Amino acid sequence: MTIKPNSVEGRDIAYQMHPNVNLRKYERDGGLVIESGEGIYVTDNNGKRYIEGLAGLWSVALGFGEKRLSDVAKAQMDKLPYYHTFSYKTHGPSVDLAELLIKLAPVPMSKVHFTSSGSEANDLACKMVWYRSNALGKKDKKKIIGRVKGYHGVTIAAGSITGLPRNHESFDLPLDRMIHTSCPSYDHFAKEGESEAQFTARILQDLEDLIEREGADTIAAFWGEPVMGAGGVMVPPDGYWEGVQKILKKHDILLVADEVICGFGRTGTMFACERFNIEPDVLVLSKQISSSYMPLSAILMNDNFYQPIADESDRLGVFGHGYTASGHPVATAVGLENVKIIMERNLVANAKALEEQFLGRLKDLAAHPLAVSSRGVGLLGALELKPFDDGQPGDAAAAAQVACEEEGLIVRNIGEALCFCPPMIITSEQVDDLFDCVARALERVA
Ligand code: PLP
Repeated sequence: MTIKPNSVEGRDIAYQMHPNVNLRKYERDGGLVIESGEGIYVTDNNGKRYIEGLAGLWSVALGFGEKRLSDVAKAQMDKLPYYHTFSYKTHGPSVDLAELLIKLAPVPMSKVHFTSSGSEANDLACKMVWYRSNALGKKDKKKIIGRVKGYHGVTIAAGSITGLPRNHESFDLPLDRMIHTSCPSYDHFAKEGESEAQFTARILQDLEDLIEREGADTIAAFWGEPVMGAGGVMVPPDGYWEGVQKILKKHDILLVADEVICGFGRTGTMFACERFNIEPDVLVLSKQISSSYMPLSAILMNDNFYQPIADESDRLGVFGHGYTASGHPVATAVGLENVKIIMERNLVANAKALEEQFLGRLKDLAAHPLAVSSRGVGLLGALELKPFDDGQPGDAAAAAQVACEEEGLIVRNIGEALCFCPPMIITSEQVDDLFDCVARALERVA
């Protein structure tokens, strides 16, 4: 297709540098212009409608066009469009949302600190971990354990905790202080003939060995998504989180749960920590906190984590970190309304109720000759494909993603997998529509 120079597509190529793309390829091929959205659907500038099978970037819980969120944003814009939360200043929306998050938290939490993106929240949580170690006089206890295939964002610290080469290469990451342990995906990393229980025991031993090698006195925290998302939807085996927590406790290592994707119902409970019995010291939230209608993220911390940081700020005279947009009033007002709607409409229960159908349809598709297996939890899932005969890794998934788009479904291909994470307002009929599109797409590329 030729791209007209004065079209949106043409001007996009001329002026905008996009994230997470092969820039040269983008210059040649251009992008898809999305113009509007309603419910689980978005529409492009040619009027073609798509099911948004990834809820944007795993985030639009309420779907598109939720009027209550735009009304709240407008009302807050009119009343107080901006104010900061530096030093002794505050405002109602940030307080209201912080209070609600503390009430909803899966374990007792003491304070909430707002940021604007998942990366920023993880980056700051990392700085807080270091600040706290200094406060406790443990100057050497600074290393952070991330996991292979873990994703925590792309800023310097968060990008370093991330365990994906594509986010490290040529960016001079990871930082030396960040070390990585095994990915808990049985499907991807089990050895020939290894049972799931043996696999779990082996990767827990990997963690023990890493701590032993590095020295527990040098390690401050372990970072993990309860279910890995951007690494390709990796659901941990039974006993994994229980084992990890035992090891961390034994070695006095903090646990940071990154629920940027999992939080607010995605896995069928308000937080995945409830589903997997995880008791984190720090909980990182974003995306579905505001359905991404406004940029917003939050760090929740327990008292044991918070108190030494508060003491250190007292000693130094300041907690020397903050952003112009920390706790932004419009973002927090929208976040508050969004979380209220998730509760009022029982969307967490909806995710749980649709889980069987959602995972069942995925499992049926795994019988397709192009597919290998399926996995998922709640309304988060993946279909693993195999490369074409004589093909390259990931080529079938890439082709299937394009075919899905032609069929009117936007999904994401990660490695060999097609990943699914629809808006949480999705209905049973729409789940069927979504997977009918996938079935047709697989037929096209097979
Ligand atoms: N943490 C997790 C688990 C994520 O999935 C993401 C983004 O996908 C991030 C952090 C980074 O969030 P952001 O893109 O808002 O910086």
